[in-house]
Amino acid sequence: MNEAFLYYIWEHKLFLTSELRTTDGEDISMIDIGRRNRDAGPDFFNAKIKIGSTVWAGNVEMHLKSSDWYRHGHEKDKNYDNVILHVVLLADKQVMRSDGQVVKQCVLPYPKRLEEHYDELMESKLPIRCAEKLGEVPSLFLTSWKDSLLVERLEDKSAYIEQLLQANKRNWEEAFYVTLARNFGFHTNSMAFELTALSLPLSCIGKHRNNLKQVEALLFGQANLLYGEKDEYAQALLKEYEFLASKFDLKPIQEGMWKNHRLRPSNSPYVRIAQFAALLYYSQRLFSKLLECGHVNEMYALFETKPSEYWKTHYSFGEAGDVHTKIVGKSSLRIIIMNTVIPFMFYYGKCHSNEELMDKAVLFFRQLPAEENHIIKQWKQVGLKADNAGDSQALLQLWHHYCEKKNCLKCRIGHKILVVR
Ligand code: SF4
Repeated sequence: MNEAFLYYIWEHKLFLTSELRTTDGEDISMIDIGRRNRDAGPDFFNAKIKIGSTVWAGNVEMHLKSSDWYRHGHEKDKNYDNVILHVVLLADKQVMRSDGQVVKQCVLPYPKRLEEHYDELMESKLPIRCAEKLGEVPSLFLTSWKDSLLVERLEDKSAYIEQLLQANKRNWEEAFYVTLARNFGFHTNSMAFELTALSLPLSCIGKHRNNLKQVEALLFGQANLLYGEKDEYAQALLKEYEFLASKFDLKPIQEGMWKNHRLRPSNSPYVRIAQFAALLYYSQRLFSKLLECGHVNEMYALFETKPSEYWKTHYSFGEAGDVHTKIVGKSSLRIIIMNTVIPFMFYYGKCHSNEELMDKAVLFFRQLPAEENHIIKQWKQVGLKADNAGDSQALLQLWHHYCEKKNCLKCRIGHKILVVR
């Protein structure tokens, strides 16, 4: 038993109403349980409770034992002077406010089966603690929970987008460009890619957008991947870059940021930068165009751009190899669409009160195939199959934000299992 469980019983009004009374034997009637406070101060604000014949309005504090009131120093803290009820599991001491007044206390009565179900869940050794009970949860209920989790995941991603917007004077194209660059780094080089984009405003690229070689020069130069290269093409890019860097007063990112080790040639940072340059060259106002797409397949088409001739035979600067057109693969594009395009579309819709766009973002997830990874496999093994990317994103959110953190009390499946069984 822990305090989180106590808050849970209180918040969901799962206590036994008819047995609610103070330690002095006065009857308690709950009018309003109050609002949960997760910051400093009492646990619930603005509760309204009838104790005996008097209605009290104020805060509620909760502890496992009454003596915890003193352990936390509340008897000296004026923030606790407005506590109207101290709710505990064990009343082992009278408690007082800083002005010396006694605080009324109540030992919370609750159904014992609730605690049994909770212990069962918490003590399970399975990676998904509720695995054995999942079959009892109606599929319609699971579908609605997955829908909420998907929106929750999109809301979480919105925080990062908002930060970028604030840093870019709310310029959506610029913020999108930085996020897209980050995504082109595919984990290993995401930081280096993001720093490169942050060091190179989209407006500079915009002025040379009609010349792919200059776009490449700007990107490779800012990425600090041109100095020291003997290759003729790299030297030509360096010459262009030096002219443009002085024109725009650009400084490249720190040396040694890029990782090439253990990457497949098609993921090499050189190939990714060349692909990104081609995308910027061929697609003006890319973000606006993506917002106008009616189906996710139209997005794939917008990303299908070919890097310059040189990259047909190269994975980095130097000796030429076999000819391979290095367009971004479909599975990589899917990751970009899921991690960047759809979250941007959702948040743009939210900021502009455009529910249609927000719904379209969710729908686009449903039009993409489910991701395949060990977490999704784990859900499949316990009977929760992901039919599309909307499902897999929801299950990833459930795993990372609830299961992994033992947040079963905040999970709707957990609630169903605890209360309804
Ligand atoms: S968080 Fe939810 S889904 Fe995960 S183990 Fe707990 S009850 Fe099950």
